Amino acid sequence: MTDVAVQWAGNNWAGNYTYGATVLHRPTSLAQLQEIVSTAPRLRVLGSRHSFTDIADSAELVSLEAMTDGDLVVAPDRRTVTVDAGLRYGELAGALAEEGLALHNLASLPHISVAGAVATATHGSGVGNGNLATAVAALELVTSSGEIVRAARGDADFDGLVVGLGALGAVTRITLDVEPAFDVQQRVFESLPWSALYEHLGEITSAGYSVSLFTLFGGDVDMVWVKSRTDAAGHPEGELFGAVEATGERHPIPGIDPTPATAQLGSPGLWSDRLPHFRMGFTPSNGDEIQSEYLLPRRHAVQAIEAVRSLGHRIRPLLQTCEIRTIAADQLWMSTAYGEPAIAFHLTWVQAQPAVEELLVELEGVLLPLGARPHWGKLFLAGAAELAPRYAHHADFVDLVQRLDPRGAFGNAWLDRHVLGNA
Ligand SMILES: Cc1cc2nc3c(=O)[nH]c(=O)nc-3n(C[C@H](O)[C@H](O)[C@H](O)COP(=O)(O)OP(=O)(O)OC[C@H]3O[C@@H](n4cnc5c(N)ncnc54)[C@H](O)[C@@H]3O)c2cc1C
Repeated sequence: MTDVAVQWAGNNWAGNYTYGATVLHRPTSLAQLQEIVSTAPRLRVLGSRHSFTDIADSAELVSLEAMTDGDLVVAPDRRTVTVDAGLRYGELAGALAEEGLALHNLASLPHISVAGAVATATHGSGVGNGNLATAVAALELVTSSGEIVRAARGDADFDGLVVGLGALGAVTRITLDVEPAFDVQQRVFESLPWSALYEHLGEITSAGYSVSLFTLFGGDVDMVWVKSRTDAAGHPEGELFGAVEATGERHPIPGIDPTPATAQLGSPGLWSDRLPHFRMGFTPSNGDEIQSEYLLPRRHAVQAIEAVRSLGHRIRPLLQTCEIRTIAADQLWMSTAYGEPAIAFHLTWVQAQPAVEELLVELEGVLLPLGARPHWGKLFLAGAAELAPRYAHHADFVDLVQRLDPRGAFGNAWLDRHVLGNA
């Protein structure tokens, strides 16, 4: 054991998974990390622990926190910044604000690490917005031989390296596309009739830069959250296809105190204070929850909504909220939006995992035939045999795993079950 390793026991953010790992390494330098990674029989990098399964588990874990500071290297053309991979988006946003720069999008919460989010194809919303991994212009990782691999967009294998599922090595530095900072205003519209959604789905999901629909599968869609850039024209106000603008602040989960939610009611603010639903410094979402999410080709959107609604009576007792979002297509091999624009169904469940898993059998029964790809960081059941054909570069990714990690140090039970098919 290296001198930076400690005996460890821990669980994920939601508390629904206790890691089996008993050793946590906290290297303070790249050289230490190289030594740890090249000698551990089996290990994984732990991000901010916001995934809902054993995806980040192994015999040993390594945290990059002690190798992470908030320093940005801004490229001379100011189009990219390079950061430590363990940085959280909230910290990154603060550093970008000082430079007058912005990312194109954020997830619902700023608490997650950049490397962990990118590894699982974490996304926000917006018909024109790719997931957070699409902002990666270059990265550096330490493979299980201790070698440092650097790759940039356009290089061989780059499209396979980015959404790496933690299986390729320890990502240490990430270069991200940035743009000049912009302001966003957020408005919430309530009680959208389902018929209006079916008829005007494209217009509603394009009503702002980033649009999220929240529903409990009752008589209508409970809320439409529209985040509009103030430098773009045409912000809906007052009414949206029959939904009425809320007169007070809302939380994405109906009935919860909206204090942790980002400001609404049309007040303009910095991109990073409006694009997430939750504010740094507060518990995001509910905290007492499990999440699942399925991304489908957007051409099947109405069929998919109807399929999920058909299970509404089964879903509702376990559901805290369902969020429907859109994601632009990309070319990253293991991205859940690979090759086609996607519509995503996110489900925040109550903490009742056995019942949720029973229901996921039914949900996947209706969504997998429509081409669903489960979010890699959330709870799902589908195995490698079902998922592999949904990824045109699945075989290339497996080959990349074998080339970069021939001794399987970054392998784990999750990877065997859902990607490699060794389970
Ligand atoms: C309240 C809440 C809200 C969420 N909202 C969204 C949302 O809006 N959109 C969305 O798409 N997802 C969302 N998620 C899911 C979340 O974004 C993903 O689970 C993401 O992977 C979490 O990042 P993390 O840093 O916590 O990673 P972890 O859970 O710690 O790890 C995830 C994977 O990344 C790997 N990894 C982490 N760091 C590195 C590294 N440096 N090098 C190599 N591999 C690494 C791990 O080994 C593991 O395989 C949400 C989750 C929560 C709890």
